[in-house]
Amino acid sequence: MRLPYKGITIALDNGSGDYSFISHAHADHLNGIKRQQNFIASEETHELAGLGGKLVDVEGTKLINAGHVLGARQLVLEEDGRKTVYTGDISLKQNIFGLSAETVQCDRLIMESTYAHPEYVFPDNFDIYESIAKWIRENDRKNLLIGAYELGKAQEIIKVLNEYCGIAPVVNERAERFCMTYEKFGIKLERAVVGSEEAEDVMRGRFVAIVPMRHAKRYFAANLAKAFERETRVGVATGWALQYRFNVDAAFPMSDHADFNDLVYYAEQTGASKIEFFEGDGSKVVSALKNKIINPLLNK
Ligand SMILES: [Zn+2]
Repeated sequence: MRLPYKGITIALDNGSGDYSFISHAHADHLNGIKRQQNFIASEETHELAGLGGKLVDVEGTKLINAGHVLGARQLVLEEDGRKTVYTGDISLKQNIFGLSAETVQCDRLIMESTYAHPEYVFPDNFDIYESIAKWIRENDRKNLLIGAYELGKAQEIIKVLNEYCGIAPVVNERAERFCMTYEKFGIKLERAVVGSEEAEDVMRGRFVAIVPMRHAKRYFAANLAKAFERETRVGVATGWALQYRFNVDAAFPMSDHADFNDLVYYAEQTGASKIEFFEGDGSKVVSALKNKIINPLLNK
């Protein structure tokens, strides 16, 4: 998607305009970007995504917090007194890093709709952190694997394990690259990188590892159990756990996206008269807005 703006075009999370706005560093928001481009993005995103090129300030544009993952921003454009907001991916509920999306009044809203169906209502993040910690404590003699996306979710779980359980988990190199950027921007994370001496040490005893989602499988846990001669359990942390059954020992519905109620609440707060969705089907959000079904218990 591209927005014409004061005689130029701004590409939204792709490389097709005079300038590219990159909302955050998840791979599905980096389509077709070229390294020599001029980017509108946060410094964190520039680094996490390895954007290269140049970060620019375009007059009349503003970046506001999106929550979601480190560096995630929404784009606000103002032209002839009319405001447009493009959300990228947003989360409204506070997480362990204190990240959450800001809301501004606008005329046109282009928003995400990952969980734009009423069946997606996530528990409070801190309740989920508690349930992860409880699972870790209940299985304190077993090795545990937790499947999570390597940017955002992995760092959130590391922090939970550090603060709730005093555990430094084992992480893979890809997650480690993102952890280093989190630390560069002031977020301390205790972890051990697989293959390092420190990780070898940790893995001599009982350990907790954060693994890519594709490895969060029972057969993978069974192989590790043999290799380490220790019972091994596997869990996942993903918003999709609300709808899909994962073949694992524990599934935590932990999401860094807005849920259905959040999306409706957010859209209502912006006061936008024109709402579009850049992916997926937002029709349930639109009808909830029309019928004024806005959950009053949320986001006090
Ligand atoms: Zn994302």
